[in-house]
Amino acid sequence: MRQTLSFDDVLLEPRYSSVGSRWDVSITTDLKGVGPFELPIISAPMDTVTGEEMALTMYENGGLGIIHRYNTIREQVDMAEDAGMQGAIVGAAIGASGDFVERAVALVKDACVPILCVDVAHGHHVSVKYAIETLRKTFGNKVHIMAGNVATLAAFNDLSDWGADSIRVGIGGGSICSTRIQTGHGIPTFQSVLDCAQSDRETVLIADGGIKNSGDIVKCLAAGADFVMLGSLLAGTKETPGEVITRGRPCKVYRGMASKEAQMDWKGSYRSYEGVTSTIDYRGPVTPILKDLETGIRSGFSYSGAHNLSQLHSNAKFIQQTSAGMIESSTHIKRIE
Ligand code: IMP
Repeated sequence: MRQTLSFDDVLLEPRYSSVGSRWDVSITTDLKGVGPFELPIISAPMDTVTGEEMALTMYENGGLGIIHRYNTIREQVDMAEDAGMQGAIVGAAIGASGDFVERAVALVKDACVPILCVDVAHGHHVSVKYAIETLRKTFGNKVHIMAGNVATLAAFNDLSDWGADSIRVGIGGGSICSTRIQTGHGIPTFQSVLDCAQSDRETVLIADGGIKNSGDIVKCLAAGADFVMLGSLLAGTKETPGEVITRGRPCKVYRGMASKEAQMDWKGSYRSYEGVTSTIDYRGPVTPILKDLETGIRSGFSYSGAHNLSQLHSNAKFIQQTSAGMIESSTHIKRIE
């Protein structure tokens, strides 16, 4: 049985650096066929993370938002259309069954969406093969197809060969995810990123699930990811869909899309559930949070002596730490009497 690694199991060894200022570093990354993005962060297609406002703000900060699919086709098209008129590049999620073709055609034709995300929990699946191939036949190379999620190199290569331009990598690691508890399946997201980065395909790798801080983002990028996708780190902000509620203090709901609550709201019933619902203290606008993450990422590039993403990939030297190292790695000031 092989041993796998999670974010906290590893650190990057500091390398000789000629980076003068973290602002001299380019953290720009490319989304195949769409263009460069100055911030390698994508907001998750969840109904408590990305609607029109988040998608727009992500784009204004150099990143990308994928508008969730838990709505009517008309509602999703309106959200995408509003953000795209205001000049933003946005993506939109679709499923792999039911109305997915109709939804995709409306998003591309009516709202000129350039990025479709086939958003499925277990992406290494025959239904995803059919969905990607159908989208390719329908749109040719006019649309960027994002798909997932996957956890293994074999799955990454298959989705690439089926026609995906970018792939979300990570199963069971999300902060609101109970897939590993319910089904016993999954791989630590960091390990999946390391494994999928071995692919010889040109497909864009998006690390997704369980990313807790800018350090984890740097580890993903250094391990071979081109982008990270975030849920909890952006949840609870002004731009997420949903109202501010009071639970002792102001907060917002953040929930897994496979949670009982989300399924009840969108389907009126639930079967198996692989997610939970939570609340997050209200954190105000998302822009200062993105700026903090950006600053941490830039500093991370500097510690690895990297001026850009490809230098980070080649300079990265991971070490494995012990549990004593993990304790030392988090702040551990003791109260002085
Ligand atoms: P976070 O950034 O750790 O909060 O994880 C966000 C990611 O969790 C999303 O991008 C999805 O890949 C995944 N996810 C969303 N909803 C669920 C769910 O209900 N169960 C399992 N995973 C989920």
